Amino acid sequence: MSVIPSVLITGASTGIGATYADRFARRGHDLVLVARDHKRMEALATRLRSETGVAIDIMQADLTEAAALAVVEARLREDARIGVLVNNAGTAIGGSFTEQSTDDVARLLALNTTALLRLTSAVAPRFAQAGEGAIINIGSVVGFAPEFGTAVYGATKAFALFLSQGLSLELGPKGVYVQAVLPAATRTEIWERAGVDVNTMSGVMDVGELVDAALVGFDRREAVTIPPLPDAEQWNAYQAARQAMLPNMSQDHAAARYRTAA
Ligand code: NAP
Repeated sequence: MSVIPSVLITGASTGIGATYADRFARRGHDLVLVARDHKRMEALATRLRSETGVAIDIMQADLTEAAALAVVEARLREDARIGVLVNNAGTAIGGSFTEQSTDDVARLLALNTTALLRLTSAVAPRFAQAGEGAIINIGSVVGFAPEFGTAVYGATKAFALFLSQGLSLELGPKGVYVQAVLPAATRTEIWERAGVDVNTMSGVMDVGELVDAALVGFDRREAVTIPPLPDAEQWNAYQAARQAMLPNMSQDHAAARYRTAA
């Protein structure tokens, strides 16, 4: 791509997505903003057009609805100007697993995993064919921390992390960069939407600082970026421990501790 690629950002009406829009616009990228709230995206687009001069399209879409999602997928397949996908749209729901309704957890999955997967699947073949392009998936530190007590939300974020790591290995050699960004608590509306008062919490990062740090990781082409983690060696050690198990997994017999007496 000889020109600066356009960036399609989901969940761009507020929070982390709107901040990515601001930062990519300031880097000179044209944008495609996707979310449900057209009015908020129009206000953001108007401001960014006048401050940065970039071109901004708005796609109003509820990404939990198949028909609306298909329109965004088609745009990603067909619009060769789009060279960066930011899979950011996501939500959380409050309560414990037994309190959450089956419909609510299914809707959570539809947005946090199915939409992310379908959009990635729509764009990846074109990027691989072109030998360039980038996919940023917004996961969460809870995706590797069941101890945080958000089983379904955490599982969706584990999916985002695993998919990103797998695709990084598969698409990296084809010239496509895949980044998983794992924020911890960040000051956005997601908390209020889940019925939590963010002002009662400590250790909450401002959204601008989170996105700026994530973009440092992006520019370094990190596979996994964890903005709040002070010591990167802890993540590296965790990955090394996981990888050390891998050669031991293919065995003709069960491990000794599982063998029953003959
Ligand atoms: P947010 O302020 O609530 O923003 C969420 C965005 O997603 C909004 O633009 C919202 O726009 C959009 N969205 C929600 N439902 C949608 C739907 N059905 N279809 C299309 N768009 C939809 O939350 P945020 O904190 O910025 O979250 C962004 C990402 O960061 C999420 O994936 C979240 O899981 C992740 N994350 C956040 C934190 C945190 O503490 N904030 C921590 C770790 C990870 P509309 O309402 O206009 O559709």
